[in-house]
Amino acid sequence: MELLEERILRDGTVKPGNVLKVDNFLNHQVDIELIHAMADEFCRLFADCPITKVLTIEASGIAIASIVAEQLGVPMVFAKKAQSINLDGDLYTTQIVSYTHKRTYDVIVSKKFISPDDHVLIIDDFLANGCALNGLIDLVTQAGATIEGIGIAIEKGFQPGGDDLRERGYRLESLAIVDAMNADTGEIVFRH
Ligand code: 5GP
Repeated sequence: MELLEERILRDGTVKPGNVLKVDNFLNHQVDIELIHAMADEFCRLFADCPITKVLTIEASGIAIASIVAEQLGVPMVFAKKAQSINLDGDLYTTQIVSYTHKRTYDVIVSKKFISPDDHVLIIDDFLANGCALNGLIDLVTQAGATIEGIGIAIEKGFQPGGDDLRERGYRLESLAIVDAMNADTGEIVFRH
């Protein structure tokens, strides 16, 4: 998506450790007009899917997922990073290793909010190694629901998450795929 690529080139910064910082428009300050344009694109890409829920993970996925859900006319559910898990059986739980924070989170979704007859579109801001998405896929699988597709704002194509998910047969649409980036020069190369 050209608009997003232009914005990444304009406002994104490459940090050591293969981290692309997009705090200016996506991860801290949020450009709602851009989010609307991204949501339009996701809705176009998944127009043929009978989506009943949009699922993301807190916090950065929530802005995009909210607008996508609004446009589709379905609820948005966000998986929560839990401090402590109660074991009374009303939660789906999984574990996710955070790429940026280098720690493992227990992540939960209430069983009330995803059911076997749901058709879920998973949305997130970044895809790197795929840990966050594999956790979300695990939660949907536990619920017995159908995964219609996965929509990602920025995929780092030089990390294995995206290729792995495509090989496993998931319909994965990334609005921008970064194939290379360099923290010393600031150069960012997109896949087309
Ligand atoms: P994964 O689980 O695929 O390794 O990483 C995805 C998650 O880590 C995303 O939800 C995002 O929050 C975070 N993340 C991974 N790489 C980056 C990056 O380069 N920049 C930012 N801002 N977040 C990232």
